[in-house]
Amino acid sequence: MSTLRSLPVVMPAVPNQRWSCHSCGDCCRTLVGHLFPHERNRLDADGWAEKLGVAPYIRLGRQRVLNKRPDGACVFLDDKNRCRIHTELGEDAKPLACRIFPFTVRPTEQGWQAALRFDCPSATDSRGDPIARHEREVQTLADSMPHIARRERTRLKGRLKASSHETEGLTQRLVRFFDRDNLPTGAKVVVLARLASALANARLTKVRDDRFLELVDILIGGFAAESKAPFGRPSTTAQCASPRQYAMARQFVLACSEHVSLSELKQGVVHRWRKRADQLSRAKRFLRGSGVVPPLRGFSNQVTFEEVSHVAGATQETHEIDDLLMRYIRARLAGTSVFGAGYYDWPVVSGLGALAMCIVSIGWVARYVAAHDGRGFLKPSDVNSAVRVIDRGVTRVRALGTMTERGRIAYLMEEEGVAKLVDAFWMVEMK
Ligand code: SF4
Repeated sequence: MSTLRSLPVVMPAVPNQRWSCHSCGDCCRTLVGHLFPHERNRLDADGWAEKLGVAPYIRLGRQRVLNKRPDGACVFLDDKNRCRIHTELGEDAKPLACRIFPFTVRPTEQGWQAALRFDCPSATDSRGDPIARHEREVQTLADSMPHIARRERTRLKGRLKASSHETEGLTQRLVRFFDRDNLPTGAKVVVLARLASALANARLTKVRDDRFLELVDILIGGFAAESKAPFGRPSTTAQCASPRQYAMARQFVLACSEHVSLSELKQGVVHRWRKRADQLSRAKRFLRGSGVVPPLRGFSNQVTFEEVSHVAGATQETHEIDDLLMRYIRARLAGTSVFGAGYYDWPVVSGLGALAMCIVSIGWVARYVAAHDGRGFLKPSDVNSAVRVIDRGVTRVRALGTMTERGRIAYLMEEEGVAKLVDAFWMVEMK
């Protein structure tokens, strides 16, 4: 184990992806900002408790986090959407969690692996400078983090350990495949889902290293060739998803979109039990899939499951949807937040299935957003909102990393359930 202070940042290679902060204040309203001990000390030394009239940070379990106002906004956010620490003391005085978002860094043996989150509107809209231009600032921030490198122990599936040759080779092959322009994006996600299912069913103990990568090449090539039939027709996946697979998909959507605010986390045990009972009731309604959808956070109009299921894919500005989803998938792959230490320590095969299910969830939530606005078809803005909803939960919601969720993904990978669901919830109408 060694500290990584002088090791380089590896920025995720995502062509066409831009980002700069546009000071919308969204992250200051929705995210929980964790503090390092020296940051707490600095907030104390700068006298913020007196200046604000409230505690600048609070205890959350064993950690300290930035305090929030009753409306959910950070106590430092002023009425002009500016951070008071930034205004009064400069950017360098802000906590690292605020300065680094929407980038994250994860210590690996090679250095700091950077990833880009898509729950920032400037990232989903790809507005600002090319992300490679942020390398120096991310490097500076990473260098100031007191983290210790952790030996990565990624597994292929079950207990079978994966070598870095296998995980890197697989990721490179998927990136190359998604970069090819001979298939619609939706068909490529179906291939990803079919690849996950095939690997889940393969006996990999004797198919290792170069042979494993050869198998991946053969599977990707074979599934891509089968996709030559017009995507969106039953010929791509042979048949439709079963009612149980749809029900499981809705439950995955709920797990991804459950966002717990700081005020909820702060509540006592009685509130937590009430919240748990509410979650169970929501889970049952998502499982049933009829009647009114329990509203997702940030949405207030009543929408029924039937209305969501009747929303058609987009027929216009479809390139915007393709571009966003390609950037999202590419960022997850290049930022290595698909499996292993980047995704709840999940094995490679489960992580690939979960990535495809994230796209399914984006498709469901986008339809929910359209139905919420009273529309029967999708627009790019629906998909944009859905990516932000889903990416806010991914890798942050603890329940998503549990054995229950892994079991759900394993079930959905049987009989190519994930591929059928990608087909069913794809966001662009195919001609
Ligand atoms: S959500 Fe993104 S654009 Fe908005 S303030 Fe945060 S980092 Fe800046």
